This record gives sequence, structure tokens and C-alpha cells, in this order.
Amino acid sequence: MVPEVDRTDQASPLNDDGIDPAARAAGHQPSLTGCPWHDVNEMLQAAGLRPTRQRMALGWLLFGKGARHLTAEMLYEEATLAKVPVSLATVYNTLNQLTDAGLLRQVSVDGTKTYFDTNVTAHHHFYLENNHELVDIPDPHLVLSKMPDVPEGYEIARIDMVVRLRKKR
Ligand SMILES: [Zn+2]
Repeated sequence: MVPEVDRTDQASPLNDDGIDPAARAAGHQPSLTGCPWHDVNEMLQAAGLRPTRQRMALGWLLFGKGARHLTAEMLYEEATLAKVPVSLATVYNTLNQLTDAGLLRQVSVDGTKTYFDTNVTAHHHFYLENNHELVDIPDPHLVLSKMPDVPEGYEIARIDMVVRLRKKR
């Protein structure tokens, strides 16, 4: 599927898309109150992202319902149902910006499906093949019994484990 490109969204990449390095470096911690609208605003600001109307609306959908795993298509569908005027291309851009800012984590399955996880702490996943669903593995201490040798000059940044599950026949 080819995402439809919304030209009005692409027209002003300079004033809307960059992450302000100064704000990021300042390490401002968001003060969360439990009110999603306020919290999303705080999270965006703390990450150096301007809280535009589109980011606020998408952030509200993403972070207002607890820990979630969503593809861009799933979020686009939710936004459409919630009457948020946004293109699939903008949803992709926003998800990538939030990921770059450390507010989301990407989990790839199959190389074709990318899920965005609102839980950015270290954890692994079950992938339910039958309903294409990503679920957290509750044990955060799950480790490989033997770590692979890493080429000279490299270190392991992160290990993402996806355990694929299918229904028993
Ligand atoms: Zn997760």
C-alpha cells in the first residue's frame, strides 16, 4: 500500500518537524498529572517537539489509553474515526518523530509490519500470528542464555525478542 501524500502537510517541514536540540539537552522532565491532554502537551514539550494540533490529537489517541502497540495504519484508522483531519503520511511522520524523541519504541515484525510501542522500557513481546497482535511478555528479566559474539568495535545496544505464537491445532 502506498501512503497518500498530503501536500499541505509536507509544505512546511522546517517550522514543524525538527526536534529542538536545546530542549532535549536541557533534560526537562514532564510533570505528569494523569490528564491526557495536559500530559501529552508536557511530553511533547519535554522532547523538544512543538505541541501542534495534529501532534496533540495523535498523542492523545496514542498515550491516553495506557500501554499500546499500534501500527501507523491502526492509528490512522483511529484518527479518522475520531474525526482528526490527518493524512497517513502525517501519521507516519509523527510516529517517527515521537520515536526519535524517545517517546515511542519501534518493534518490527516480519520486516513488513512496524508496531509503535508506548512502553519504552526494556521488555520483549509475544506476537500472536492469528490476530496480528503484539503483547508484552510480562517477565522483564528474560535473557538469552548465550549472547552472540559482537564484532570488534561494537556493543549490543538493545535486544528485541519477539516470540511468535500461533493457536494449537
Ligand atoms: Zn510492548
